[in-house]
Amino acid sequence: MQPSLPFEIIERTSAPSSAAPALQHRSTTSTVAPVFVRHPRARRYLLRVTDDGGVRVTIPRGGSKREAAAFVERERTWIEEELLRRQREHAQHREALPTDVERELRARAKRELPPRLFELAASHGLKVSRVSVRNQRWRWGSCSRSGHICLNWRLVAMPDHIRDYVMIHELMHLRRMDHSRKFWLLVAAACPDFQSARAWLRTFQCTAPRC
Ligand SMILES: [Zn+2]
Repeated sequence: MQPSLPFEIIERTSAPSSAAPALQHRSTTSTVAPVFVRHPRARRYLLRVTDDGGVRVTIPRGGSKREAAAFVERERTWIEEELLRRQREHAQHREALPTDVERELRARAKRELPPRLFELAASHGLKVSRVSVRNQRWRWGSCSRSGHICLNWRLVAMPDHIRDYVMIHELMHLRRMDHSRKFWLLVAAACPDFQSARAWLRTFQCTAPRC
């Protein structure tokens, strides 16, 4: 499982320059959208990959968001390597749970996950025909055409917003069974923060599944 994650900040810095390098306005879909924060006492741009898999850039006094964005672009490879490195590190450190702990978590999952799923379904006007809590090896959840949703018991140990994202993802499959753009628009409407949840799953649960 992965309850407490080490809080670790890795930084890259860049001095503000008057002669900004040529900017490339590429889309940044390969990783998370960076969060820009102005800091009047900062002397240089500071790039961090945060413990939840986000990217945070500090803009120093006299700096610009434009230059900060260019900095992120230049360091794109480093960011991706850093995310991967953390994935690997996290996977290595993940240990099997003692059986009694696992048994307790699975029992709690059976009690707590279905009611939450029904609650979310109701709030989106959706009908789930059946829900099962399973020990899926390679998936967080699944949804059949008949409206049967399976949930991985491990969701019970994740932060609430991550668990909710996975449930909403499966629920939106009741409207669309694919992963098309239209599907993701449905997810985004129901769960505006879904990108950060996906990044969290990618970063910290790499050996485990996605839907
Ligand atoms: Zn899916």
